[in-house]
Amino acid sequence: MGVLNASQLALKAARSYLSPFTTSKSWLSTRTSLLGDRNLLLMGPPGAGKTTVGRIVAQRLGLPVIDVDDDVLEETWKMPVSAKLAAVGGERFLEEEGKALCGFSASGCVVSLTGSNPLHAAAMRHVKQSGLVVYLDVDTEDIVRRLSRMKVNRIVGQEAGASMRKILRYRKQFYEKWLDVRVLCGTGDTVEEVAEKVLKAVERYQNPAGETYVSTRSGSKESSKHKTYFSDVVLEGLAPDGGLYVPKTGFPKLDTREWLRLAGMSYPERALALLEKCIHPIDIPAFDLREMVFKAYGENFASEAVAPVKHLIGNQYVQELFHGPTASFKDLALQLMPQLFAYCLPQMCNYLILVATSGDTGSAVLSGFSGLRDGDRHRTGVLVFFPEEGVSEIQKLQMTGYREGNAKAVSVLSDFDFCQRAIKRMFGESGLTGHLAVEYATVLSTANSINWARLLPQVVYHSSAYLDLFRDGVIKFGEPIDLCIPTGNFGNAMSALYAKQMGVPIRKVICASNHNRIITDFISTGECDLRGRTLIASHSPAIDILKSSNLERFIYHVSGGDGHLVRELFTRLDRDRYFRVSEPLLARMQQDVLAGWCSEDDCLAAIRSVHTQTGYVMDTHTAVAQTVAGRLQDGSCPVVVCSTAHYGKFAPAVLKALQSQNIPEDPLEQLKELGAAASRPETHRHMITHLEESGSQAHTVCPAEYGVLVEEVETMIQDSFLKVM
Ligand SMILES: *Cc1c(COP(=O)(O)O)cnc(C)c1O
Repeated sequence: MGVLNASQLALKAARSYLSPFTTSKSWLSTRTSLLGDRNLLLMGPPGAGKTTVGRIVAQRLGLPVIDVDDDVLEETWKMPVSAKLAAVGGERFLEEEGKALCGFSASGCVVSLTGSNPLHAAAMRHVKQSGLVVYLDVDTEDIVRRLSRMKVNRIVGQEAGASMRKILRYRKQFYEKWLDVRVLCGTGDTVEEVAEKVLKAVERYQNPAGETYVSTRSGSKESSKHKTYFSDVVLEGLAPDGGLYVPKTGFPKLDTREWLRLAGMSYPERALALLEKCIHPIDIPAFDLREMVFKAYGENFASEAVAPVKHLIGNQYVQELFHGPTASFKDLALQLMPQLFAYCLPQMCNYLILVATSGDTGSAVLSGFSGLRDGDRHRTGVLVFFPEEGVSEIQKLQMTGYREGNAKAVSVLSDFDFCQRAIKRMFGESGLTGHLAVEYATVLSTANSINWARLLPQVVYHSSAYLDLFRDGVIKFGEPIDLCIPTGNFGNAMSALYAKQMGVPIRKVICASNHNRIITDFISTGECDLRGRTLIASHSPAIDILKSSNLERFIYHVSGGDGHLVRELFTRLDRDRYFRVSEPLLARMQQDVLAGWCSEDDCLAAIRSVHTQTGYVMDTHTAVAQTVAGRLQDGSCPVVVCSTAHYGKFAPAVLKALQSQNIPEDPLEQLKELGAAASRPETHRHMITHLEESGSQAHTVCPAEYGVLVEEVETMIQDSFLKVM
């Protein structure tokens, strides 16, 4: 990124202001100066431990402590808080409490707020200016138990007879609104442990430079000079040296009590809690992240559970990742990623995302970006190129249904490779990119699966699968599970390995291939050999891939972050179409990952057999994984098969598997036929509606000429963004 705009400058300034101690090794010596003259404000429901934890934290930091109840309210009112509440009633009480807080000023203190302070907006705006708001997030049931033990039977708001639980739930929205940092308190955490978490959270907040990203191809020296933050990697995608970005210090680990908290949460709540740990709040503040996450995993998913886990056969479970708008697991990443992208965008630029697709990516990207808010849509567009003959009828209809506003797909009378190469060439032509920048203030970008913001959201559903099995009593917490994943670019598998790094007890990640078995051969032999290999069409086209781009991240991690090795291997792969890793490295890979492949016949047979036994219909990719899981998994623990697509998306092959007598030509007829044959899982209503709406209209078909594709790009920019005068 050449030019910095005002918001980026502000972000950089905030970072340097917040991290004046980055050269110091021991943070103990800097603990007291962490906050400067800012306050540390503890927020949370009554019974969360704000007062006690506040005292411990203040003592550790050597700071004065202020308890709003005792030191502000009682001082102001000259009477006990409970007397005031009894005298004036809840509504007046909140008003007067807010007024008292507005008149309060302090600096460099630890301040324990009251449980009801956050209900007063003006008061919270006032105190928030003075420091950092730390939310002690305690489970509602724990609070109810503590309050009954403390014999507290009345809190503000209860006059009208509402139950304690109801009030606590109502208040949560206010805590979620004002927090800067969440401290996730587990059942059984002692006050000392919570205080320690608070100190760690504050330290993290003050040190954004502790969470930077490096390229998988960077040497140890280069990486220390330049700092790359989350917002940079989201916009850049690929690192300048051709490598992929990974977090420099790995993934944060959650402790068991934190995981147990997550088990009681909904999918978006789990997503928020996990993503807050992985995205620094200076990059995306907690409240904004919350809005994005709840929008991403809301009504656009047909299942309220978002990614439910269901029992299949024996010790096999299936996680349904196809309830999003375009019916593949790519929605789990792509309903969120565009929002992250738009948030990180510089103010003055338009961005046009170019995508080449041979399958599910196109529709998922179009759906994700077309769902942006108006302000963001006006400066973020998507143009998808797909091969006219290279995608299924249903996939084509899914993509061409978008043709207005900021998202559009056009086809090319050539293959996927041509589309991919044309886009790469556009990025490389400074004449073109310069023209677009000057004429339309527009920058070109991509949204492919190497982008960190596509990988990160996938960590959530793997974690969620484990939590569901625990919640439903299938396993005790800590017992292992295996995951089996139909693998193409290794993105889904890589995010499972990241979930393991965060502490999810995943034993093996089992990668499943079809007859294009590059990954399987690599994991079994350590040889990545593309010489003389061509792709053979299959019933599971989304995993027909020669070069698995995210393998680069895997090798980087198992080699202990050896950027030189990664660079050497992947340079060799480009040059010779071959590399081989050492025996010790192969052994380390095999500790985490197994791999196997499934023939076309076995894939269809699995769909038929599972349907006969259980009534459940799998898509072809799921069937590949289910078959491989059956062969490689030893039965000693549950295995979760990732169902990456709804069977409707690959209707002709599934109908063939179910031995349907006459398979109709028309995709909508195929779906009807399938709907009649399958009782579980339910039909994908959103996909069908979308297909019905898009069916009748024509789409743009381009000849296989680079110049024509460039014209399409320019026309799209003219249609989407206002021309710069
Ligand atoms: C993209 C896709 C895959 C492959 O996922 P990777 O992350 O590239 O390994 C598998 N199944 C379906 C249905 C897909 O759309």
